[in-house]
Amino acid sequence: MNDLREIWVYCKKATQLCPCGYLRHPSGKCHCTPDQITRYRGRISGPLLDRIDMQIEVPAVPQQELMKQQTTSEKSSTIRQRVEKAHQLQLDRQGKSNNQLSVKEIEQFCTIDSISENLLKQAISRLNLSARAYHRILKVARTIADLAGSEKITNQHIAEAIQYRRLDRQ
Ligand SMILES: [Zn+2]
Repeated sequence: MNDLREIWVYCKKATQLCPCGYLRHPSGKCHCTPDQITRYRGRISGPLLDRIDMQIEVPAVPQQELMKQQTTSEKSSTIRQRVEKAHQLQLDRQGKSNNQLSVKEIEQFCTIDSISENLLKQAISRLNLSARAYHRILKVARTIADLAGSEKITNQHIAEAIQYRRLDRQ
């Protein structure tokens, strides 16, 4: 489950977007200045951020909310089933998980239509992303499509994958 591990690694990084690690925490514990935050973030260099497939800023959720969500949101066993199914899909299709695909394999297994292609090219130029980011987005979009049980990568999957890359441009 390499994809899951990457998401986890990412989430850990995302919770440390300021020196104290409490940026935007509901407790209001963070007293870092914008200056300190900029300097701190500068240390996570662009190329490093570039290597992280998914970059979502995950806001800390008050405990009350977490308790509430436990009863209303998808059961973790259901989620696990869906993730395992998506992983099996990947193995059946290409013999490895999406995050292990080479550039050549990405071109083979992560094909998109011309609308998605345009959307992606616009995002790349607007967000000033690298060629590496281009392929990362395709792999993430492939994973999103697999989780949705969709054989095709749609422009919605591409749009969602682009959203995950926006953090490095904020
Ligand atoms: Zn802080």
